[in-house]
Amino acid sequence: MSQPTPPQAKPPSFFHSIRFRLVLWFTAILALVLAAFSLFVYYNQIHDIRGNALLQMEQRMDLIIHGLPSGHVPSNLLGSDDVFLLLGQNGGVIASQGLESDQEGADIAESAEGSALQSFTSREGPVTSWTAARGTSAAQYIYMARPLSIDGHPGIAILGSPYDPYGLYGRLVFTLLAGSLLTLAIALGGGLWLADRAMRPVQAITQTAREISETDLSRRLHLRSKNELGQLADTFDAMLDRLQSAFTRQRQFVADASHELRTPLTIVSLEADRALAARRTPEEYRQAMSVVRGENELMTRLVGDLLTLARMDSGQQSLKREPLDLSDVALDAVERLLSLAGRSGVRLETGPLPEASAQGDRQLLLQMVSNLVENGIKYGGGAGHRVLVETGSAEGYSWIRITDDGPGIAAEDLPHLFDRFYRADKARTQGSDLAPSGSGLGLSIVQSIVRLHGGQLRVESTPGAGTTFEVQFPISSQS
Ligand code: ADP
Repeated sequence: MSQPTPPQAKPPSFFHSIRFRLVLWFTAILALVLAAFSLFVYYNQIHDIRGNALLQMEQRMDLIIHGLPSGHVPSNLLGSDDVFLLLGQNGGVIASQGLESDQEGADIAESAEGSALQSFTSREGPVTSWTAARGTSAAQYIYMARPLSIDGHPGIAILGSPYDPYGLYGRLVFTLLAGSLLTLAIALGGGLWLADRAMRPVQAITQTAREISETDLSRRLHLRSKNELGQLADTFDAMLDRLQSAFTRQRQFVADASHELRTPLTIVSLEADRALAARRTPEEYRQAMSVVRGENELMTRLVGDLLTLARMDSGQQSLKREPLDLSDVALDAVERLLSLAGRSGVRLETGPLPEASAQGDRQLLLQMVSNLVENGIKYGGGAGHRVLVETGSAEGYSWIRITDDGPGIAAEDLPHLFDRFYRADKARTQGSDLAPSGSGLGLSIVQSIVRLHGGQLRVESTPGAGTTFEVQFPISSQS
């Protein structure tokens, strides 16, 4: 059956993309910085230009006033655009040069009265200046006024000069504006290019994530970059590794479980067919039923084990954490398995069983000890051998130990012992009449129970000399 393809998320529009937002913010901040910088430069330059103009005018004014008694203003001191006025005591124009009309002279005199004359007598000292639009052209002029004495009477000399004769302001504004706009345009283009480059790995991650389906988890990003996105990709790859192995294990588990169930089901079916094929003696029917019952027990056990594991895997297994004594649990397990040990000819014994307190689920811990003792009986060499159960406590933990003097476990089997459905010696474990043959889930269940209780499971085995399983549980401070 083909799997429905998951709905794919649409890529964000350009205006919703991180690229656009990044560049927008970046450009906006740059525009602010440029504006502040331009204003700073502009006002600084204005101040300098005006300062220079005033200095030059002052020098010219000195020379003009110095030359006044001779009756005329030297022509090299006044430019063609300049204007010069001499005001008498009552503010009337006594002499002028460069005026467009008499009215202009009167206007300048008036503004001089307004701004300059007052200053002379007050705080601003003997020279004052002001800026005003001049005449018909309305060009900005800078005027400078200075008091002087004309034939023993007070008067005022006024010199007017174009404020910006070389168009410096215009050029300054143009330079700042054009420079800022060009910088912004370059920043915008460069920012977009950079953001695009920076976001490319994200697109690669998105694309790969889209291509990964549940059935093909083998794809990896392999970004090989040391930056944050490289880190993200590595984390993503590591997550895929874990997912892939989890899926593989899950699939293997289901396949193994089906395989384990198929054998007894086939045997039951064959046995029933055989019994029904012809008229049989009661003894033959009895034998057939006994085979069916044996296989049924095996399946019941297997299904029970699978259920326990599935519950523990999914975290559904409710864990009752009650204070208990591991020696009680050990005694219970031994009692339950004494008859099995007896039938197998195995001596099931307990060593010293001092109190060993732990916190846990009694039922699960009983299953854990039973599995280990049962393994000792099943795989510990059989008749004539011994299985010993001991408990105790050390600093910070309690322990329970199950030791047998059987054939032991080969070193190459030890790392796989707790894998689901793993059997170290398949031939030996199948079909013993006395002990039920296992499916390879017993130790997996033991390990899950130990983990659930926060304990540690250790196994030591010497081929030919026996095996010891030891489980340690931390003693919690409250218990
Ligand atoms: P099962 O449920 O079939 O008994 P387990 O998971 O309990 O399987 O054990 C896995 C394998 O480990 C067994 O098939 C057996 O070969 C080996 N094993 C477990 N306990 C012992 C032991 N005490 N001595 C020797 N082999 C053991």
